Amino acid sequence: MKKLHNYVTGQWLQGSGEGVPMHDAITGEVIALSDTEGLDFAEILHYGRTKGGEVLRKMTFQERGNMLKSLALHLVKKKADFYEISYRTGATKVDSWIDIEGGFGNLFANASLRKLFPNQSYHVEGDPIDLSRGGRFMAHHIMVPKRGVAIHINAFNFPVWGMLEKCAVNWMAGVPAVVKPATNTSFLTEAVVREIIASKILPEGALQLITGSARTILDSVESQDVVTFTGSATTGRMLKSHKRIIEEAVPFTMEADSLNASVLGEDSVPGTPEFDIFIKEVRNEMTVKCGQKCTAIRRVIVPENLVEDVQIALGNALSKVTIGDPRLKEVRMGSLVSLDQVKEVRERVQKLSKTANIVYGDLDKIEVIGADAKKGAFLAPILLRENNPFKNLSVHETEAFGPVSTIMPYKNLDEAITLAQMGKGSLVSSIATNDDKIAKEYVINAASHHGRILVLNRESAKESTGHGSPLPSLVHGGPGRAGGGEEMGGVRGIKHYLQRTAIQGSPTTLTEITGIYQANAKYKEAEQHPFKYHWEDIKPGMSLKTHKRTLTDSDIISFANLTWDHFYAHTDITSLDGNIFEKRTAHGYFIIAAAAGLFVYPNKGPVAANYGLEDCRFLRPLYHNDTIYVRLTCKQKVDRDVASAEHPSGIVKWFVEVFDAEDELVAVATILTMVQKKQETFVEMTDEKIQESLNKLSEDSKPKWGIMTPQHMLEHLEYTYKIASGKIQDFDVATPEKILEKVHASLYNYDKFPRNTNFPQLEKDTLDELKHPDLGTAKEKFLEEREAYKNYFKENPDAKLNNLVFGEMNRYEWYLLERKHLNHHFEQFGII
Ligand code: NDP
Repeated sequence: MKKLHNYVTGQWLQGSGEGVPMHDAITGEVIALSDTEGLDFAEILHYGRTKGGEVLRKMTFQERGNMLKSLALHLVKKKADFYEISYRTGATKVDSWIDIEGGFGNLFANASLRKLFPNQSYHVEGDPIDLSRGGRFMAHHIMVPKRGVAIHINAFNFPVWGMLEKCAVNWMAGVPAVVKPATNTSFLTEAVVREIIASKILPEGALQLITGSARTILDSVESQDVVTFTGSATTGRMLKSHKRIIEEAVPFTMEADSLNASVLGEDSVPGTPEFDIFIKEVRNEMTVKCGQKCTAIRRVIVPENLVEDVQIALGNALSKVTIGDPRLKEVRMGSLVSLDQVKEVRERVQKLSKTANIVYGDLDKIEVIGADAKKGAFLAPILLRENNPFKNLSVHETEAFGPVSTIMPYKNLDEAITLAQMGKGSLVSSIATNDDKIAKEYVINAASHHGRILVLNRESAKESTGHGSPLPSLVHGGPGRAGGGEEMGGVRGIKHYLQRTAIQGSPTTLTEITGIYQANAKYKEAEQHPFKYHWEDIKPGMSLKTHKRTLTDSDIISFANLTWDHFYAHTDITSLDGNIFEKRTAHGYFIIAAAAGLFVYPNKGPVAANYGLEDCRFLRPLYHNDTIYVRLTCKQKVDRDVASAEHPSGIVKWFVEVFDAEDELVAVATILTMVQKKQETFVEMTDEKIQESLNKLSEDSKPKWGIMTPQHMLEHLEYTYKIASGKIQDFDVATPEKILEKVHASLYNYDKFPRNTNFPQLEKDTLDELKHPDLGTAKEKFLEEREAYKNYFKENPDAKLNNLVFGEMNRYEWYLLERKHLNHHFEQFGII
């Protein structure tokens, strides 16, 4: 029997024991053996902290985010294989989509968060704090990656998502992971990890996998590690109180069984869209993943006069749920994960039914399509009704982790809120109401007990992501019984793996440490106007002091007329009594505009655009005859990805301080500019450069790649110049429409053409017949056609011509293409 491997300490290792069988949830067949015997957990954790941690910690947030994005893109390509394996856990296609593509989606979403972090390996959090009168002592908080390893002990129900939702955040933070999925579905986790490791996208040591039992893993945890747990509350509590967790003060996040409640608003009577939405939502939550979801609705809280209606409508909805082999299209609900789980859920239902009645479904009867009901872990949906939920508490305490929910009545909204709270803390709650007053009352009062609350009505229903879907950008986790964690939640999740430290010192020192210019730090006078520098050469603190300008009365009047902003303080000096203005006052916007007039460098240069304005404050009114000057200082650089038709660039935030003639600060703002990166990849193809390169090209020149001869290369370029001068345009663009915009935009990036790309009109590994008698003639013809191209655009500067690969291109784009193309082929023959 095949044994599952563990990926630890850089290798795929088999355990040395007999192994524990993992069963196909539908057929009962043994899939493989899980075996972790002999694994040295202390060594595994140490390997993660050192080997993986050292690389991850040094990467910037941008690099880590891009890594996650590449990984997600890579895994998406392999998804069909994972779906196939996922059926064996009892999951339908829809269930698997949540697990598999939900997991990849989580990687994408977290990858995007890189934009919210500085372009470095550690985070700078919040605002600076001034601690002195003289402005020479201050503090800031930084957050650095923990030097430990993230240990994820996961539940059986989401073998892929469960791993990726947790790893995404620890990797973003720069911390490696050791994943321990639940034994019975670890074969699916293993398949995904195999792809991840084979892709080599993550640095070695960033991910280790233990495909089975790991009872002693916590014996080796250290204070820099972080442990997360998803599973039963009993196991969770036991692990949370582990001696090492307490001794080493290891953060332990627990997400355990929660008895999530959904409330039907009193206004949502039968016939309203909200009633139907509610029924659909409860049915989905009971049956998706066969009810094995930590967010599933377990308690259905309904106005007492609507209990009967809800019971009937839900019964009807559940009767349409077809159960069986999840591979079959007509099947809506698959099986539970294992026969053990069926046994457990039955026991829980029996416990609940001591006081509640089963009003739909039968523990002993089930109709199954395409499978053997006895061999597979099948269970029919079970709906219970508890008429006395304030007295019979089992319904608020017993989690049946399967397709099981209980209806209970309430008399008024206060009762509904109390019932929801009686679950003692849950991951999510929802309410279906079209009355926003009811929604507000419920949300404000129930929020203390829930990690997330969804309000469903006719307006939100169509686009709602549903009661059961945790989203990477929202808090996922809940108080009390739900474990007290917040395992996701965008930036919040990432920060869980970072150590927050307050740093005190001078503004100049803190500028250096944070990479952000701090007010009152020493300026670094720029040697030339800062707008003349490319992105790479701009440093926080780089500064320029401008000349001065006196604001005149007519400036203010002109600005009012230009903008139509005729606010009395600028236009009516008879109305100033009793307010803060003493004289005709300059518009705040005028001060900012005048400041720009002082600091802007007018010539074309690396600054590509003004991107916006932040944190603008006017510290005192400025009147006519006041004189101002500006300090422009680089505050911070924020890198960005460029996907559209623009050159690579980053955002530079400039701290603008406006002073009056007495050097008193009168206004501050932060302006954002888009600054181009240096283009150092390509040689400019001037006439001289081309001639010099051609002189080096001889019959004997050999290509570094490909099969072209020097003459083939020149004749190929000659042909493309004929396209570029409009002589040849009777062709179809070869690039598919779907990706054309992206391919076109790539003209603007500074990436070289890949080697060995095939010209679209040529079959692979073939060469056109040579047209010219010798290389000398080919050189002449090449230059002639280049001249024709240049002349064409001189005469038709606004023309657009089609290119085979990049579609329609303007004059500037033909220039970009020429530069890339000639660099490519001249490099091929070593003549530049
Ligand atoms: P468990 O709590 O038994 O297991 C959860 C994880 O903990 C598994 O990976 C398990 O590994 C591991 N584990 C168990 N004991 C130890 C230990 N001593 N040291 C280290 N790791 C340990 O939950 P189950 O998966 O068996 O599910 C049981 C019940 O939990 C369900 O019926 C349901 O009620 C609830 N549950 C709740 C979930 C939620 O998200 N709220 C999700 C899943 C389950 P192994 O598999 O190797 O034993």
